[in-house]
Amino acid sequence: MIINTGGTIGMVRTENGYAPKKGALMSELEQIRDIYSSEMPSWDLIEFDPLLDSTNVKYEQWNQIAYAIEENYSAYDGFVVLHGTDTLAYSASALSFMMENLNKPVIFTGSQIPLCELRSDGRDNLITSVMIAGDGTVKEVGLYFGDRLYRGNRSTKYSADGMVAFASPNFPSLVKAGIDIEYRMSNMLVRDAESSDSNLSVTEYKECKIGVIKVFPGIQFGLFAPIVHEMDGLILETFGTGNIPTYDHALTDLINEAARRNTAVVVCTQCPQGTVRLGAYEAGSALVKAGAVSGYNMTTEAAVTKLSFLLSRGCSFEAIRILMEMNLRGELSK
Ligand code: ASP
Repeated sequence: MIINTGGTIGMVRTENGYAPKKGALMSELEQIRDIYSSEMPSWDLIEFDPLLDSTNVKYEQWNQIAYAIEENYSAYDGFVVLHGTDTLAYSASALSFMMENLNKPVIFTGSQIPLCELRSDGRDNLITSVMIAGDGTVKEVGLYFGDRLYRGNRSTKYSADGMVAFASPNFPSLVKAGIDIEYRMSNMLVRDAESSDSNLSVTEYKECKIGVIKVFPGIQFGLFAPIVHEMDGLILETFGTGNIPTYDHALTDLINEAARRNTAVVVCTQCPQGTVRLGAYEAGSALVKAGAVSGYNMTTEAAVTKLSFLLSRGCSFEAIRILMEMNLRGELSK
């Protein structure tokens, strides 16, 4: 099943630039003979209404995608989700958390150039994604772009205008689509007997009060205090292995106060590659003492969607602190 949520792949030219249009994707597909080839898996298309530029995607659309998959789960071998590239990695991460016991491929893809344009990358991204979804080997949420399938919750948009627009800096690809489609089984999630026998279950996302603060030289943490006090969770994008400036106590005061209010603080790194090692430097150990937990090598996209997932599930502050440091869906390694 192909689920069209919007995004560049099915957009048309308008006076104000590219925008989604109902039915436009299907009209483009009708002109691509290969999509109807007997070598392709058979497919059906459903289209969301309204179709969105993915900059407007939020938790409601994640729920809508998950329910579309859940309702059609037994009728299809796999699912391709067409989505704008801007928030593709967030949505792929979100779906990976909310869909427990997933045993079929859910492949997110999109394109940098719409199918209506001559040099569109949409055709190849779509065809290969449908082939991977129909094959059924991948039993998790993936993001296909360029020539690679990455784990959804390990991927990040890396280029604003390149055709190889995504990267997975801390985890190797699941599939490499060269001359052959090469499945890299050793990189895929392994299901234990219990989870592969269990039925798919979906946790609905709810609106959560969380924030992300990116640390920079000279940052005045005191300025953030009034907002942080309103939050249920905070992600700090720190320097290197989890280091923060220590020129004043504003941040540690902030984290202490957050802990007092049961607001989980998760430390990620702003380096695309590598992992947080809390306490390796004096400049980071203050975070541990104040009660922050490590996001290890999670992308910010994974950290945001995981924290929102745990809050949506109604987990306690203590459970969130433990689970954020645990590997739930292959999103982190220690
Ligand atoms: N703004 C578009 C979107 O994310 C960009 C794209 O699809 O490439 O929907």
